[in-house]
Amino acid sequence: MKTLRSEQLFAEAQQIIPGGVNSPVRAFRSVGGQPRFIERAKGARLYDVDGNSYLDYVLSWGPMILGHAPTTVTKAIQQAAANGTSYGAPTELEIQLATMIREALPSMELVRLVSSGTEAVMSAIRVARAYTKRDGILKFEGCYHGHSDYLLAKAGSGLTTLGIPDCPGVPEDFTKHTLTAPYNDLATTEKLIKKHYRQLACVIVEPIAGNMGVIPPSPEFLQGLRTLTDAHGMLLVFDEVISGFRVQYGGAQTLYGIKPDLTILGKIIGGGLPVGAYGGAKDIMKMIAPSGPVYQAGTLSGNPLAVTAGIETLKRLKKPGTYEQLEQRSVALSEGIGQAARKAGVALAQTRVASMMCAFFTQGPVTDWASAKKSDTKAYAKFFHQMLEAGVYLAPSQFEAAFMSVAHTPKDIERTIKAAQEAFKSL
Ligand code: PLP
Repeated sequence: MKTLRSEQLFAEAQQIIPGGVNSPVRAFRSVGGQPRFIERAKGARLYDVDGNSYLDYVLSWGPMILGHAPTTVTKAIQQAAANGTSYGAPTELEIQLATMIREALPSMELVRLVSSGTEAVMSAIRVARAYTKRDGILKFEGCYHGHSDYLLAKAGSGLTTLGIPDCPGVPEDFTKHTLTAPYNDLATTEKLIKKHYRQLACVIVEPIAGNMGVIPPSPEFLQGLRTLTDAHGMLLVFDEVISGFRVQYGGAQTLYGIKPDLTILGKIIGGGLPVGAYGGAKDIMKMIAPSGPVYQAGTLSGNPLAVTAGIETLKRLKKPGTYEQLEQRSVALSEGIGQAARKAGVALAQTRVASMMCAFFTQGPVTDWASAKKSDTKAYAKFFHQMLEAGVYLAPSQFEAAFMSVAHTPKDIERTIKAAQEAFKSL
């Protein structure tokens, strides 16, 4: 595969952009090699600057559930752009998107639109703190909630860690309010909550972990968090930036039947443009300015382009049969990959919830960050590069999800499985 132009551009990019990329994982550091520079994308395919094409299972890290450049969405964006891209004044479109969100996730009685998942998480935590008049938060090891200071704390290798910042530039003072517990470990979580609840405003969780590979919640985990937070006057915050409108139209909370106090959305609700949202019970959300004292604002919040892309994406997702198709194709892909691995004698722990999938290169089971970390990342890197050479674009890290779109065809899936058969043979 010819990659000369990508290599030239990467060299050039590194002279002007830190590490050559605007978000770290794009640089291929954890699998080695050089990133491909993308020129365009359509449907399930990416096209790079050297003329190569790839079947894409990254889908911009989740948003492109309809595939790339779906005609209805791009046409709507073009029309919206002709009417102006941002007014800094309210529009009817914002009511439409917020209403669609509330219809899908009724726990979000009031919805505020922002421009990224990170921003939505920060704002949700702020209102949770204001509402409970407590400063602490409890998160889970391996869950990612954007890059705000106090959420860049995670557990070390011990059972739990008390607020150790993971990143230079984050003062310990900022993370001292963050507790971490292992994902799916209700016993440790309960101990921490019982000890610290007087200081804890909320528990924040990815109801389906999607940032340490994909790790489904155990059957009792989310219900346990609901019961514990209720019993201790804390809020339960679901970060559904990935799972919202992905695993079902109503997200993970509908799939598992758990009602959080606050929900965070992003990715799909912007149809590939920058959007985030947070929302929840009226009495909590009424605290946000201007109806309440908790300040949060944004120049481009709810801008007509992103909101239009979101509305058109949700309209398409709502059509009957959409999630059934995603499910069938995801089952076909993961079963095919599993069979190929078994035939080649490669140990693979596969996880999947609807169209969020992962194949950990380990015996498994994978239930938390400690077990995910047992994966053979060198084997993954080799597999990744073989697949890339065969024209299949997977996440350039073992600890990310693979996503299915409605644009992937049974033929695409067959081709992917064939490529995997060859790749496994060479491991
Ligand atoms: N929360 C989760 C679960 C995410 O996966 C991400 C991003 O991948 C974020 C929050 C942050 O969203 P953004 O990258 O839009 O700031």
